[in-house]
Amino acid sequence: MTPPVMSDNPLLADWTRADGVPPFDRIMPEHFRPAYDRALAEHEAEIAAIAADPEPPTFANTIGAMERGGRALTRVGNVFHVLAGAHSNDELLAIERDIAPQIARHWNRIHTNEALFRRIDALAKVAGTLGLDAEQKRVLERYHISFRRAGAGLDAAAKKRLAEIIERLAALGTAFSQNVLADEQAFVLSFHEEAELAGLPAFMRDAMKSEAQERGRDGYAVTLSRSSVEPFLQFSDRRDLREKVFRAFVSRGDNGGPTDNKSIIAETVLLRAERARLLGFADFAHYRLDDAMAKSPDAVRDLLDTVWTRARKKTLADRDDLQALVQEEGGNFKLAPWDWRYYAEKLRRRRCDFDEMAVKPYLNLDQMIEAVFYAAKRLFGLTFRPRTDVPVWHPDVRVWEVRGRDDKLFGLFFGDYFARPSKHSGAWMTSLRDQQRLTGDVRPLIVNVCNFAKGAEGETTLLSFDDARTLFHEFGHALHGLLSNVTYPEISGTNVATDFVELPSQLYEHWLEQPDLLRRFALHYRSGEPMPEDLLARLLAARNFNRGFATVEYVACALVDLDFHSLSAADRIESAAFEAQALSRIGMPDEIVMRHRPSHFAHIFSGEGYAAGYYSYMWSEVLDADAFEAFEEAGDIFDPAIAKRLHDYIYAAGGSRDPAEAYKLFRGRLPSADALLRKRGFAAPAAAAA
Ligand SMILES: [Zn+2]
Repeated sequence: MTPPVMSDNPLLADWTRADGVPPFDRIMPEHFRPAYDRALAEHEAEIAAIAADPEPPTFANTIGAMERGGRALTRVGNVFHVLAGAHSNDELLAIERDIAPQIARHWNRIHTNEALFRRIDALAKVAGTLGLDAEQKRVLERYHISFRRAGAGLDAAAKKRLAEIIERLAALGTAFSQNVLADEQAFVLSFHEEAELAGLPAFMRDAMKSEAQERGRDGYAVTLSRSSVEPFLQFSDRRDLREKVFRAFVSRGDNGGPTDNKSIIAETVLLRAERARLLGFADFAHYRLDDAMAKSPDAVRDLLDTVWTRARKKTLADRDDLQALVQEEGGNFKLAPWDWRYYAEKLRRRRCDFDEMAVKPYLNLDQMIEAVFYAAKRLFGLTFRPRTDVPVWHPDVRVWEVRGRDDKLFGLFFGDYFARPSKHSGAWMTSLRDQQRLTGDVRPLIVNVCNFAKGAEGETTLLSFDDARTLFHEFGHALHGLLSNVTYPEISGTNVATDFVELPSQLYEHWLEQPDLLRRFALHYRSGEPMPEDLLARLLAARNFNRGFATVEYVACALVDLDFHSLSAADRIESAAFEAQALSRIGMPDEIVMRHRPSHFAHIFSGEGYAAGYYSYMWSEVLDADAFEAFEEAGDIFDPAIAKRLHDYIYAAGGSRDPAEAYKLFRGRLPSADALLRKRGFAAPAAAAA
């Protein structure tokens, strides 16, 4: 049965723009359900035709046909995900709850379609004799692995149970993320008295004023977005208010009310374990890592333990210094988690003679965007031209046309930088269209979403150094999408192993820390003067200050993630108790909490993105620290020969090779963790080259 078609549904009409940008100005929430119905039915029919093809399987009539299929579904899904993440509302949230299990069911039906898998399996068995090029071989291999990992080849009873599990997991993931969003939206702390603003610098007051206005309130507001909470904890002199904000921040999804996520977590980890067992793995972590660069939980634990031991030791020493500072100031209390950032900031000012506020006026968002583009030009020859004639989903979204050295069009880049109530917290890269050449020269439409606190009306938006790092990070992902140069969608852009996907983003952060770049772009937002040399030197020297803390709050998350996913299908847990035990086992300092507590750990529970995969950032950092040393060894941070290898084997290559092989082609060898330990200040700098 064909679902009714709304004749004026822009999601179903042919988009008339040559650049493929969706008509955001005409897309309404009510268009999604009918569009999804049509797109799903269309894709189902395409798959049925491929599976029932009377011709014997060939790469073209099976893999090629699948790669060409599902166009409408991809298109509708991409638009939906951008809106659901960056500019949501109650209608879209309701659709998301309905659609997520439906999509999960759809893909599960495809992955467990026996006739279809027989064709793929038959091709995989004779892959060497099919006359395929390297990319086609890789795509075939990826299909075969994905199908097997999704349950193709299981018996009927196992398939049925798997389908139930997958659908339930999708619903749980959506509920998890909506609960966190609800808790974030529900909390606003408004201040009207000067006494409540004690210690807060002017840039924060401006941002808080505009947060309040955005929510139709007077005065100054703190919200639960990270870029609102962290500076508040860093600067507010009011210990009582720091505690209040901190408690609200860490209890997102853990409040005992209707938006509590603890039972969702318990059910999720149980179902993931059962699924892994059905697929022949000991637990979810083994299942997950089998298809990652790391290959096994042991390899991951080795790395995390090495880093944890060093970071924890450093952090305990730092804690004692902070406690001493409390005493010295006459404070008669034990340092609490809501005090750490505040006293660390004081200690940093003293030790490194450096304070965050002195730097901020030099980190103006527009200039930092220019800096991000400049590095892309020097490394890869890209230029960026602003476009104001492209439809967008919110007036704050900016668009640039991206071209290469010979003026070749690479694609469009969308930057959606400011926090607003309709946006999920965090920062991410996504796409409205991926690069591919299978159905013509399809140019990518790449999106960066951030949550920077917007400057007050008519004022410049100023970033913290961490915000600037986020800007570079997400743009590194964007480059991975924009520079992609492959034929098949399956391996386009960021479609790579999770523990490899952070390499392009984290590597890009290194250029932000280069004096050459900061001298050029860190200009005072009023005077246009460059950052004074001594401030620049102190900023870079302070870079590893408090790095133990940042490492501990991160590695604790990665270890607890691994613990949750090392459970067997029989282990029923209570999430809060499990979290407490896991943290006590590793000796988590009392004064630090996980960067993401389980109840709002969206990376691993709002969908499966980083489940048993949060370690990926650290794994990728082993790679990025080692990769950047290649430029340092060459004595030129834009060395053209290294940049070319980086382009060819990493940024443009998508998933066309095994990640370890790709890295070796770039660097000539695999990395060890040494460069990472040096970068984080947990090991002595490399000796001068002999
Ligand atoms: Zn990232």
